[in-house]
Amino acid sequence: MDRKQFLLSLTALPLTGMAMKLNDLATLGAQFHRSERMPVLFLGHGSPMNAIEENEFVAGFRSIGSTLPRPQAILVVSAHWETRGTLVTAMEHPRTIHDFGGFPQALFDVQYPAPGSPALAEEVKRTISGTPVGLDHGWGLDHGAWSVVKHLYPNADVPVIQMSIDRTITPEKHYALGKELAALREKGVLIIGSGNMVHNLGLVAWDRLNEVHAFDWAQDASDRMKRAITTGDHKPLIEFHKQGHAFDLAINTSEHFLPLLYALALQGENERTVLFNDKALAGSLTMTSVLITKA
Ligand code: ZN
Repeated sequence: MDRKQFLLSLTALPLTGMAMKLNDLATLGAQFHRSERMPVLFLGHGSPMNAIEENEFVAGFRSIGSTLPRPQAILVVSAHWETRGTLVTAMEHPRTIHDFGGFPQALFDVQYPAPGSPALAEEVKRTISGTPVGLDHGWGLDHGAWSVVKHLYPNADVPVIQMSIDRTITPEKHYALGKELAALREKGVLIIGSGNMVHNLGLVAWDRLNEVHAFDWAQDASDRMKRAITTGDHKPLIEFHKQGHAFDLAINTSEHFLPLLYALALQGENERTVLFNDKALAGSLTMTSVLITKA
């Protein structure tokens, strides 16, 4: 249609229709065209040192990264960004946040200058109807995001945004919120949950820090979590606080576990889970990571 016809078609629309049409126009130039359904990841990020060390976990991230279709953008739900309410980062250039202490200068020197994506932030806000989503301009990329994404996309050339973990809502609500992100997978968005399934820093065997080793309770919790993941039985994971002593120790605070629920919530029918980096460290941490992809 030519310009005149187009303007006429706009005037023919009722007000709400016109708003939608103008909204479509505003996003017409945005980069989120339809794609094949993107895989989903849960990444056990472990120590921030994984950002600069060469080890089997980093090799695992890299190897999985090489199998992924190239995303148009990435959305990370990181254990290290807890807020009241759900926020998404909406700045053009997220800063690299060094949200840790007591590590070598080399780690503080790391920058991961991936662009942000205000357009994706808006898209998330539009997509989620179960809760209001706020646009954030103050955060950036915390180490839960950049220390792992840098191994998937070392050139920092894919836009990355983060979605926060609302510390005021139930695990059921987190899972439901995760489900609402499903449509983004068909718009070229790679969704990553970043945490650790078993994560109890208070019980870490500091003298065996880099040793592959699990305490009995950690092994028990890890085995049961993996069974639930591979059989698609998400209920015991959503109700993790009802699973007894081993789970209570494994998830003594929930922020490193909840990103898993976001990833699992996105598993569609005819999709399988692939576990990788499936090892425990220092007694009370597991690096176990999950790829959700077509069967
Ligand atoms: Zn962490």
